[in-house]
Amino acid sequence: MGRYTGPVCRRCRREGMKLYLKGARCHMAKCPIEQGRPAPGMHGMRRSRKMSDYGAQLREKQRLRNQYGLQEGQFKRTYQEALRRRGITGETMLQLLETRLDNVVYRLGFATSRAAARQFVRHNHVTVNGQKANIPSIALKVGDVVQVREREQSKNAAKEAFEGAAAGRVTPAWLTVDGENLRGEVISIPTREEIAPIVNEQLVVELYSR
Ligand code: SF4
Repeated sequence: MGRYTGPVCRRCRREGMKLYLKGARCHMAKCPIEQGRPAPGMHGMRRSRKMSDYGAQLREKQRLRNQYGLQEGQFKRTYQEALRRRGITGETMLQLLETRLDNVVYRLGFATSRAAARQFVRHNHVTVNGQKANIPSIALKVGDVVQVREREQSKNAAKEAFEGAAAGRVTPAWLTVDGENLRGEVISIPTREEIAPIVNEQLVVELYSR
C-alpha cells in the first residue's frame, strides 16, 4: 500500500487517542481529539461492538505504526529484526522504533513532530558522529551524537522547533541535549518504562506471530 496522504488527524480519530502527529496543533484546544470528535466514517458515532482478539491486535499494531509514521513493510521489518534479536521481542521492537534517527531528532526537540523530523533528516540538516546522515531509519547506538548542521537554514529550523512547539517537551532520560549548540547524544538504550508506549506491544507481537 502506498503512503497515506489524507488528513493526519483522521488517524488519531480512528484510534480514539492522540498520536501527536501534527506538532503544535496537538497541544491546542483545536485538536479534534480534545474536541471529542468521533471516529471517521459513517459509522463513527456508533457505539463500538466488542472487538475480536484479532481486531484488538490489529488496532494496537496500527496505533503503534501510525505513531511512528511507518508504512506496513517498514514496520513489519522492524518486528522481524526484533524477533531475530535476543530479549523480549515486544520491548526490543519498541527500542528499535525509539532509536531511529528521525525519532531521536523528534525526541531531542529539533522538530515538532515525527513527520517533520523525518523531513529534517531527509533534507540533510543533521549529522551523526560528524558524518552526513540523511536516512531516517538509521539505528542509533549508545554514544552516537546527533548534531544539527552548521548552516543557517538548518539551525534556524531546529531552533524554532526547540524554542517553540517542542519547548515544553521533556527530554527523555536516555538522551542528553545541548540546546545552545543543537546537539544531542544517546546515553543509553531506553527501557520499556522510559518509552512508556501508548499500546500493549505484546498484542502486536501476537498479531505477527499468528
Ligand atoms: Fe491531530 Fe495532533 Fe490531535 Fe492527533 S493529536 S488529532 S494529529 S492535532
